[in-house]
Amino acid sequence: MDEDCSRRGESQAPTFALSPHEATINVRQSMTAICQSCEVAQATVTDKCDDPVEPYLLCGSCHARLKARSLRPLEWYNLAKRHGWYQYFLHDDFYDDDGTAWQPEADVIEAERFPIPDFASVCSNPETLLDWSITRWHLRDQEFLAWSIFSPDTKLRVLSNRFSATANSGIRSLILEIIGKTGDASNVAFVRYAWREYPENISLGSLVHASATCLPFEEGFERAISALASLEPSQRRNSMYCLGYFGSPAGLDWIEKNCSQPITESWGYLAAMCRPSWARLTAWLSRGRPLSLVAIDTLEAIARLRTPLLKERRVRLEQAPSFTELEAVLREYECRDPVPRVQKKVSGLLGNFERITNT
Ligand SMILES: [Zn+2]
Repeated sequence: MDEDCSRRGESQAPTFALSPHEATINVRQSMTAICQSCEVAQATVTDKCDDPVEPYLLCGSCHARLKARSLRPLEWYNLAKRHGWYQYFLHDDFYDDDGTAWQPEADVIEAERFPIPDFASVCSNPETLLDWSITRWHLRDQEFLAWSIFSPDTKLRVLSNRFSATANSGIRSLILEIIGKTGDASNVAFVRYAWREYPENISLGSLVHASATCLPFEEGFERAISALASLEPSQRRNSMYCLGYFGSPAGLDWIEKNCSQPITESWGYLAAMCRPSWARLTAWLSRGRPLSLVAIDTLEAIARLRTPLLKERRVRLEQAPSFTELEAVLREYECRDPVPRVQKKVSGLLGNFERITNT
């Protein structure tokens, strides 16, 4: 067994050669802090390699294993719950989300003696459930169901305390994702607080998700489109999907005002989440490019559901047409805009009539 983990409170000299730029000895912290990885030995190393604001605090042995990608599962878990699994030295090229090292540069010592907790042991306590949630590559139904069981007050207390205690944007965004999926109007003050912190260390997508769930519609939507307006065009295109969380035709209005080249499929993905009606899409087809291309992509998004968000939102076309009407409108547009992109997509749409019209 590793000595750092067997001698509670004893500091071990680092066994890994530290370069001055990647690690420093922090004497003051070593007097008080426990290693964030083994949670047994004293921390003697402060390493800012992955996060200069919230560095790793480690004993020498855990630090050596971190750098050799040879942490044991529980050691990986204890770091991932504090810093996020996406940090370079913890990410999914090097570890599975059960903490198994994929490509260790040193032997992983007695890995079987240090497993990560199982879900059943963490799910009934909101603090340990949050730790677990932070270590997951993706949250699944079991995590959201567990969160939904806690009282709103308990959940809000735990999530807001952790949110305000960290500058880690990944952890903050995950907390907002949990609020977005399981929260309600009782979280309104917390979400407004998060907006006051934006854009520092918060992703717009997760913040808008929580806003769509917890804020009055007008307030949440206005905050979202104001934030989008402040972004550079390329950033705006990458982030605009967040309006889909509102599931409102107001998103279609926004597209009409803001649609611009390049017309990537992301415009259609967003429109599909905004409850488009056949009447709205035929109007876009009549107006020609760029909205006509967005209309085609919207129908394709509904037919194919290519993204997890499209599947989750169960998007559908409102006031769906008959096949005869759909074919007539699409063929007429195809004649006006006879380019390969349009011809190929029209053929595909007519072949997926049932999916488009949910019949
Ligand atoms: Zn340690």
